[in-house]
Amino acid sequence: MPPSSSESTVLERPSETNRVHVVGAGPVGLLLTALLQSVEGLSVRLYEKRHEYTRTRMVQLAPYLVADSLESYRVDAIDGDSVDAIFDAPELDQGLAFRRTVPPDLRALLDSWVLGFCPLNSIERSLSELIDARGTATVERSAGLVTAEDAMAMLEPGDVLIDSTGSNSLLRDHLLPVDAVDGSNTLKVRLEYALVITFLYGQPYDCNEYCKYYKNIENPQYKFIPMVHRTHYDGSVSHVTGIVNITAEDYEAMPSRFDGDWLRSNAPGVAESMDRFIDKIKQETHGELLGDLEIVRIPLDLYRARNATSRQWLAAAPGDHPFASSAVFLAGDSAMGSPYFQSISLGFECAMFLAGLVAQRDVPRREMLDRYELYLYKQWLRVYMRSKMIKHNKDLFESLDDPLALLEKLHIY
Ligand SMILES: Cc1cc2nc3c(=O)[nH]c(=O)nc-3n(C[C@H](O)[C@H](O)[C@H](O)COP(=O)(O)OP(=O)(O)OC[C@H]3O[C@@H](n4cnc5c(N)ncnc54)[C@H](O)[C@@H]3O)c2cc1C
Repeated sequence: MPPSSSESTVLERPSETNRVHVVGAGPVGLLLTALLQSVEGLSVRLYEKRHEYTRTRMVQLAPYLVADSLESYRVDAIDGDSVDAIFDAPELDQGLAFRRTVPPDLRALLDSWVLGFCPLNSIERSLSELIDARGTATVERSAGLVTAEDAMAMLEPGDVLIDSTGSNSLLRDHLLPVDAVDGSNTLKVRLEYALVITFLYGQPYDCNEYCKYYKNIENPQYKFIPMVHRTHYDGSVSHVTGIVNITAEDYEAMPSRFDGDWLRSNAPGVAESMDRFIDKIKQETHGELLGDLEIVRIPLDLYRARNATSRQWLAAAPGDHPFASSAVFLAGDSAMGSPYFQSISLGFECAMFLAGLVAQRDVPRREMLDRYELYLYKQWLRVYMRSKMIKHNKDLFESLDDPLALLEKLHIY
């Protein structure tokens, strides 16, 4: 139903945003805060339930986050063509122009994170410390758990609320103007179940597609696949992370997190594959495993919020719901998630777009919401295609020893 004329006037007015609430100070909420911190006339309230940043898994950000030209933005072998197909040239130029406005202190951090691996909590701590060190009075922190009711109660007309609470988003199900039903606003595609296995190795070790093939040649079933660029030598230690595809039954039988001993006792098939792979690294490079394997079992899901903003509340008949008079956005894993080690980069990319949008104080609220939805949809197409291509390549790789099985996976037309 089209809006009435008085309603439409409100929606077409510039949003006059002064207060931005960011719920969730993980990497994406922190980046958003750091980007919005110096925007004139804005104040940011940042809410976080954790007392400490303790997640030590090693992550790396995609180089496209600091690209300074179209060539460097689309350099990824799998994703370059999709970028051209999905985005218009002015959109890409706008993204590159925004990068040039990122303050130097923040830019230096991003530059360092695309070079090598670092622990997730070091990204979180660095961003958090940067926000504090700037010493502006524009960021106020609030410690403790925020409920959906709290989030609604804190809103005044014209406020912006950004939910960056991660994959179990606080508000995703509340963005539809009907009673919240679990999952009703989420589109999910399960690609596979996997073990994410990480280990440290005492010599330089670099992996490529040939290495993945030859080190797995005697592993017909559980192949360990270090992801491209998932090995990193920091001067004394190589950090190696990769994936082993498992069945749904394997997944159900495993705890969420375990070590090499548990693997050897309970999943000997996977353990033998890992041992064979690591033995071949040792034969080549004469090093030793440092410590044990760290293993997490996860479903590899691609998902997105069908609505990543409060636009449905704006489109509904005028009412007194707080989401009808403010702009609510999902960001990071709250809005969209993808496997294969690309999610933080995707979250950061969308956060940069959102910060640019919120900083333009003269954009009407409806337009802000529509532009963000469209942008997110395009990023979804991009990550969907990239993830499906990675999965397809993995499937082919796993059948390389068996030409008939390989042919079955080649659906050419
Ligand atoms: C094993 C594993 C390995 C991974 N490796 C990589 C990788 O190599 N590269 C990569 O890009 N990604 C990787 N990821 C994914 C990556 O960790 C996430 O994409 C990223 O952390 C998402 O950031 P976020 O800020 O959106 O959400 P989160 O990191 O989930 O942060 C959400 C924050 O909100 C807070 N919060 C939640 N609810 C509330 C509430 N109600 N009130 C107040 N605060 C709240 C949480 O405490 C948290 O601090 C990996 C994930 C896993 C599980």
